[in-house]
Amino acid sequence: MNVDPQEIAKFEALASRWWDRNSEFKPLHDINPLRANYIDEHSPVSGKRLADVGCGGGILAESMALRGATVTGIDMGEAPLAVARLHQQDSGVAVDYRHSTAEQLAAEMPEHFDVVCCLEMLEHVPDPAAVVAACADLARPGGSLYFSTINRNPKAFLFAVVGAEHILKLLPPGTHEYEKFIKPSELAGWIRDAGLQLEGMAGMLYNPLTRRYRLSDTDVSVNYLVRAGKPA
Ligand code: SAH
Repeated sequence: MNVDPQEIAKFEALASRWWDRNSEFKPLHDINPLRANYIDEHSPVSGKRLADVGCGGGILAESMALRGATVTGIDMGEAPLAVARLHQQDSGVAVDYRHSTAEQLAAEMPEHFDVVCCLEMLEHVPDPAAVVAACADLARPGGSLYFSTINRNPKAFLFAVVGAEHILKLLPPGTHEYEKFIKPSELAGWIRDAGLQLEGMAGMLYNPLTRRYRLSDTDVSVNYLVRAGKPA
């Protein structure tokens, strides 16, 4: 199976704090409005079937359901899914959470989804290209896909590992392994190999002084988001 148990264990250990905005998950809460708007702008999600691959505690999944999407969220962590299921009772949004890999869901529900999202997850799996291919299988012809991850270069090492984990302590040390970061050219290759068309890229920039994130059309040097389409 295309799962790294040590990676899953990291998220299991932190899961109880998933919805605490001041926890290790603060960066995900902070970037969520940006990515949710980006997705909804390019692929209006209301009334659409959306898969969230590696959904964790459901930060993106809930915000997409709030915008009217019918959301299936999958993750290989039991604790994050338990938190996600509890949290939706509080917030009153309905998401179908399942313990599954992208590959398994693609075998069960091929070409079922209008929109497939796989955010901040590819850098935690042994074979990210296979996840991209499974996401392509999940999307219906004409559907849209969104991937986000972290670039691999000295600046990304400085910002995403040294800065975020050791200086600002936004994330616990060891959250990210530099070797698993993904260059946009690599992700673009996997997208092409999966029969998808790359449609756009945006950087997610963090300003440590204002502590705010913003999207950039040009700077994909650290965190970035990619949009692709499955030919109709
Ligand atoms: N996508 C969410 C959570 C990102 S954290 C967000 O951006 O808000 C990464 C998540 O991926 C964790 O919840 C982890 O359990 C999950 N994960 C890691 N490897 C996985 C795999 N092979 N299959 C499914 N989920 C996986």
